[in-house]
Amino acid sequence: MNNILIKNGRVIDPSQGLDEICDVYIANGVVQEIRKNVKRKATTEIDATGLIITPGLIDIHTHLREPGREDEETIYTGTRAAAAGGFTSVCCMANTRPVCDSRTGIKYILSRALETGVVNVFPVAAITVGQNGEEITEFGDLISAGAVAFSDDGNPVMNAEVMRRTLEYTSMFDVPILDHCEDLNLSNVGVMHEGFIQSLLGLEGVPAAAETIQVGRDIELLEFFGGRLHICHVSASGSIHLLRRAKKRGVRVTCEATPHHLTLTDELVKKTNFDTNTKVKPPLTSEEDRQELIRGLQDGTIDVIATDHAPHTDKDKDMVFMDAPFGLIGLETAVAIIFTELVHKRFITVSQMIEKMSVNPARILKIERGTLKAGAVADVTILDPNRRYTIRADKFFSRSRNTPFDGKKCRGAVDTTIVGGRVIFSKGKILEEKGG
Ligand SMILES: [Zn+2]
Ligand SMILES: [Zn+2]
Repeated sequence: MNNILIKNGRVIDPSQGLDEICDVYIANGVVQEIRKNVKRKATTEIDATGLIITPGLIDIHTHLREPGREDEETIYTGTRAAAAGGFTSVCCMANTRPVCDSRTGIKYILSRALETGVVNVFPVAAITVGQNGEEITEFGDLISAGAVAFSDDGNPVMNAEVMRRTLEYTSMFDVPILDHCEDLNLSNVGVMHEGFIQSLLGLEGVPAAAETIQVGRDIELLEFFGGRLHICHVSASGSIHLLRRAKKRGVRVTCEATPHHLTLTDELVKKTNFDTNTKVKPPLTSEEDRQELIRGLQDGTIDVIATDHAPHTDKDKDMVFMDAPFGLIGLETAVAIIFTELVHKRFITVSQMIEKMSVNPARILKIERGTLKAGAVADVTILDPNRRYTIRADKFFSRSRNTPFDGKKCRGAVDTTIVGGRVIFSKGKILEEKGG
């Protein structure tokens, strides 16, 4: 079995309040020691001088598209994109074809991940059968098959009574509901954030209330009926206000924001002349909303930074703005964007970044990850905070290219990704041949 000695890195592990220069020794797939001057023989030695060593990053919100849309992404390509992006674990959403709403669906994903994947894949099961929004799935059975959470993401649960039963039922298992909040009657045929830019461009708008109304509704249901709620991709300042107040009252709600909502606004639709890679759900919002998201990150209202990696083929995205599908990819750009736009500009610290990209996702999902404590599974990410490079979509490991960040100059990159004590990605290359 491989053993790895990572020398002289700045170890940042918020799960144990650690931020200091030391060595990390890994053997038998497990973190053995973290201290200065580890004197051990290792089959692999990594010099991490000037680099940051952290618990492996976890993306709580990824679309791997398999089964059903293997032309957009597969577990093979998606997990390689994840490794290249520093993610050692991803949670894959249930809106595949067929929808992942059965034991067979969960088992299929787990077995494909074992055969072809290079990072940990934690499946999310659908809340309702076929994501039809009406009939809830067999939660207990799906959990025993390996589901870590439930979500109809892609679609909201429009029926409040269904959401009530979902919360009541899942409270017996203490698993989170990953909640895509969108009132479909309000979002209707909208394609971008309703506001000044949208009226200027003459496109159909999605009002912020389409999101905030359901965030408010579901917080209310959670307080009455119990359970655990994690709000996906918050984008509106109003949602942050609701979540901040709920958390102050001690409500068990958590939430995530995406790198794109944290760094881009609806201006970009105009600036790029209707580039369909700026079309996403929820839509990119206004600068005021974005500022409130940053405040939410800083004061802990936002627990998690998640990519909502949503691959689409060039063919599908190559349409007029009104007709193109919603969604963009994020696994291979998240670290660079967060470093460049939020850490180096001093909105958040590296420690906060790691908390929101590893420690908190693990805590919410209740998976034994997100820590480098001795004895923990050796999922480790090594980051180079100062490496300068330009994002090139044509170099992605993902099967899709739909990113609004192509060509962006960044500072901060992923150096090495270690999963279960094996070096999977290093210096731009995937080192695992599995799954071919
Ligand atoms: Zn969603
Ligand atoms: Zn999603």
